[in-house]
Amino acid sequence: MLKQQTTPLQAIKHPLFKVHKIRVFVKREDLNNKEIQGNKLYKLDLNLKEHLKYNKKFLLTFGGAYSNHIAATAAACQQLNIPVIAVIRGNELANNLHKWSHTLLNAKRLGMEFIFVSRADYLLKQSAQFIYKLLTDYASQLNPELKQQLQDAWRHKQITLLPEGGSNDLAVQGFASLTAEIENQCANWTDLFCAVGTGATLAGLVANSRYQNQRTLHGVTVLNKADYLLPQIQEWISANRQYPTLNAWQLHHDSHAGGYAKTDAELSHFVDTIWPKITAETAIQLDPIYTSKAFHCFWKKLKNQEIKRGSTVILLHSGGLQGSSKNA
Ligand SMILES: *Cc1c(COP(=O)(O)O)cnc(C)c1O
Repeated sequence: MLKQQTTPLQAIKHPLFKVHKIRVFVKREDLNNKEIQGNKLYKLDLNLKEHLKYNKKFLLTFGGAYSNHIAATAAACQQLNIPVIAVIRGNELANNLHKWSHTLLNAKRLGMEFIFVSRADYLLKQSAQFIYKLLTDYASQLNPELKQQLQDAWRHKQITLLPEGGSNDLAVQGFASLTAEIENQCANWTDLFCAVGTGATLAGLVANSRYQNQRTLHGVTVLNKADYLLPQIQEWISANRQYPTLNAWQLHHDSHAGGYAKTDAELSHFVDTIWPKITAETAIQLDPIYTSKAFHCFWKKLKNQEIKRGSTVILLHSGGLQGSSKNA
C-alpha cells in the first residue's frame, strides 16, 4: 500500500569481511517511499489499513518535535487521505512557529494538524484524564470547527489512537512483508542487525522471520539502560509470532554511546572514517540516532570475533534521514 519499490539488498565491502569470510548486505529501507522512509512504513501499514477499513474519522498520534514517526505518519496520511492530528511534546511550541523543527514544518505542509501539550501532561498521555483534557482544553489550539469534529468523532469512537513511535501489535505484524522480501532476496542470511528504540521493529523481524538453525537477530539499543524494553518486546513477539520455532535473538546494550542522540569518540570514528570506506562505492548515508549505532555494533562484533566465519549478515537501514537533514 505505502511501499513504492522493492528495496535493494546492497552488498558492501571491506578487507576485514574477506578476512573473516563473511558477506555483508545493507537492506535499503531508507528507499522504500520517498516521503515516509524506513521502518515506520511497516509500522503504519496495517494500522492505516485498519483505520480505513473501519472508516474512522481521525488518526490521533503522539511524538516529539523531531520524531521520525511524526514525519512518516504525516506523509503516509497525506498519501492515503487520512485526517491526522499529532499530539506534540512541548507546549512552548504552540503559537511559536519560528521554533518549529523542520520535521513539524514539513508535516504541516503535508496537512498534519498539531496539539502541543506540556511535558508533564505528555507523560500522562495514556490516561483517560489526559484524553479528556486534550479534547477540551488543549484542543482549543485547533480551529473551532475541527475541535468540534474531533470531539464528535471521539464520542462516536471514530478515532484511531496510534501510540508514540507507532508501536503496537499491528505494527509488529506489519513487518511480515519485509521479512518475506528479505527471504526472497537472500534465503541464507544468518545475522540481521537493526536499531532498537521501542523494540517493535526488532519484535516484528523476530516474529515474522522464518526459522533457521544458525540465525540470530541482533537488536541494538540506542537508549541508555534500555533493559526495561525486554518484557514488552517478548510480549510483542509471543503475541504475533508466525512460526512455531523462533530464531535466536539478542538485545545489545553496548553501542548507545551514552544514550539517545548521544555520541562518543568511538562512534564518531566509525561514522566519519570507517563507514565511508566500507560504503565508498554505494555512499549509504546513516542517521546519527539509530542506524549509525546499529551498524557500529555490527562492526565491533566483527572486530571482537563474535561473527562466525561464513556468516551472511544483513544490516537493516531503517531510515531516519529526515531527522538529521539540516535544511530549514
Ligand atoms: C523509530 C526508528 C527506529 C526504532 O524503531 P522501534 O520499532 O521503535 O524500535 C529505528 N530506526 C529508525 C531510523 C527509526 O526512525
